[in-house]
Amino acid sequence: MQQMKSIFLKRGKEESLRRFHPWIFSGAIHHMSENPEEGETVMVFTSENEYIATGHFQIGSIMVRVLSFDNETIDQSFYERKLAIAKDVRHRIGVIGGNNNTYRLVHGEGDNLPGLVIDIYGNTAVMQAHSVGMHTDRMTIAKALKEVMGDDLKNIFYKSETTLPYKAELGQENGFLLGGDTDDIAIENGLKFHVDWLKGQKTGFFVDQRDNRSLLEHYSKGRKVLNMFCYTGGFSFYAMRGGAELVHSVDSSQKAIDLTKANVELNFPEDSRHEAFAEDAFKFLDQMQTPYDLIILDPPAFAKHKDALRNALKGYTRLNKKAFEKIQPGGILFTFSCSQAVNKDQFRTAVFTAAASAGRNVRILHQLHQPADHPINIYHPEGEYLKGLVLYVE
Ligand code: SAH
Repeated sequence: MQQMKSIFLKRGKEESLRRFHPWIFSGAIHHMSENPEEGETVMVFTSENEYIATGHFQIGSIMVRVLSFDNETIDQSFYERKLAIAKDVRHRIGVIGGNNNTYRLVHGEGDNLPGLVIDIYGNTAVMQAHSVGMHTDRMTIAKALKEVMGDDLKNIFYKSETTLPYKAELGQENGFLLGGDTDDIAIENGLKFHVDWLKGQKTGFFVDQRDNRSLLEHYSKGRKVLNMFCYTGGFSFYAMRGGAELVHSVDSSQKAIDLTKANVELNFPEDSRHEAFAEDAFKFLDQMQTPYDLIILDPPAFAKHKDALRNALKGYTRLNKKAFEKIQPGGILFTFSCSQAVNKDQFRTAVFTAAASAGRNVRILHQLHQPADHPINIYHPEGEYLKGLVLYVE
């Protein structure tokens, strides 16, 4: 076997690794034995030549993403062990089985596999690499995944066209690593939906809102619901099952609206309570006349990077203010941010500012976050990204 290349840290820069933080920044590196290729697995040593970690090398501000602190070989058997643990965790927390065949099997750092995301939809896995190392290892990971999932897995669709840096140089495409089914109907908490892993956003469906959709169901009875930024309509069909009086779904993308309609039809055929509108959120909120008393705001990430933070916070305030101005007295607002760069407190302040400037009396009923199959590695708080508030508007 080829000798792994070595990276040596500056004095003291091993501290965060001793606390199991999985990233090594470029500024921590003293020198390298030879220049590794992007995506290559490297061994990392302290300034005292002591082994400290093994990980994927990448050019950029995060230079190494740690796969192991135990000096293991990173091969198919390594990935099988990690995937088996991830699957076992999902079993133990009750995400697999029952009336649910949709879940996140691997959530990057949260499952000690930085740069890798795998979502399961019935017998299809959709795999995304967010690092060059995971892209390089994709075939090995696919084999390990098949081994761990056995007959339950028929398709593996690899979808990294938009998630990888330097994608031009990688000559990278989306495609099947196993099987070839292009569309399927998956089940979340007993509700059905089409997943389009070929063309859909992320891995095809936003599995991270499962618990929050369930909560919404409990507040829907008799309410007039506006599901803003509906995408595939997840919140809408939960609201319908919860007994909403009417449900309006809005998204600026016509394709999202078509998906929403198809999914509502799948669960509630010919149910006249639902209508969908392809419209910009801000415009819709400005012009709307319907007296909604349950509004969901689940916009795309307003800040993809730290430098966009100020504008993102203003965007959240502007959006939420419009909802506060229009929602009926006694209304309930589910409001979210999935920007990793925006933390819980900043989001809450942005929403607070919106409530104050709309002059409404607002109570926090719930503080929401990502579900258990999107775990946060306790040594990597950066893994927390989804934040939500359920608010009672007097
Ligand atoms: N709530 C969804 C996920 C939302 S993803 C779920 O539970 O699955 C964000 C959605 O916002 C995308 O579908 C995107 O098309 C839509 N979007 C982006 N900008 C928008 C805008 N200005 N107005 C309305 N929708 C917008």
